[in-house]
Amino acid sequence: MKINVLGVSFDNVTMVEALSRGEELLQGEGAHYVVTPNPEIVEACRADAEAMAAVNGADLVLPDGIGVIYGAKMLKTPLKERVPGIEFGTGMLEFCARNNKSVYLLGAKPGVAEQAAENLRSRYDGLIVSGTHDGYFSNDEEAAGWIRESGADMALICLGAPKQEKFMARWGEATGAKLLLGLGGAMDVFAGVAQRAPEFYVNHNLEWFYRLLKNPSRIGRMMKLPLFLVHVAAEKRG
Ligand code: UDP
Repeated sequence: MKINVLGVSFDNVTMVEALSRGEELLQGEGAHYVVTPNPEIVEACRADAEAMAAVNGADLVLPDGIGVIYGAKMLKTPLKERVPGIEFGTGMLEFCARNNKSVYLLGAKPGVAEQAAENLRSRYDGLIVSGTHDGYFSNDEEAAGWIRESGADMALICLGAPKQEKFMARWGEATGAKLLLGLGGAMDVFAGVAQRAPEFYVNHNLEWFYRLLKNPSRIGRMMKLPLFLVHVAAEKRG
């Protein structure tokens, strides 16, 4: 079932359900992609029709960020739970390692994807990383070709939003991968360049606050959250 929050159609799934759907897609035919919008991405989509189409065209639209959960609740169409993109990605990587599926890592600054590959290979015994490239390329078609030539079954696309969503919508099929995951800053976390918030912040739905403390320059981006809630409140009245 889909839940509409300000134009973005979220899948109302638990983490367990999302992973089982992801595994199905990875083992099925054709190319599929997964997006994990937070309030900032929903706001970006409202201002950019191409981004909105790319997000809603995904095979799985997972609610990342507590703001989306609050928004859906305010609209009286609650979502089952938050499904953080990085945790979904981790679950899918584990599945790939267990099932001999190869993964391509695309995104982040030069050297980061290579470091992430090294860390992930040692964390998930048997994980096959078919290739890596940074996210600062100028030709999308060429980038799709790197993934195709590597023969990857799955690809992590970490270019930031909405660039990664547009890339997956336009070039997903050309990559030859069965499943593409748009995971934003996750490559930096896998590489150890950025840290995920400590458990306390995650458990108390304060991950956004931790990221702000670590990186105060994000305040401009963070202001999208109150704006998002204002828009949800307006939608509720309307
Ligand atoms: N990035 C990239 N290519 C670009 C712009 C950004 O590979 O043209 C990377 C950037 O280096 C970072 C990630 O995309 O690793 C986006 O991180 P951000 O913290 O913005 O992600 P989010 O908050 O969406 O998870």
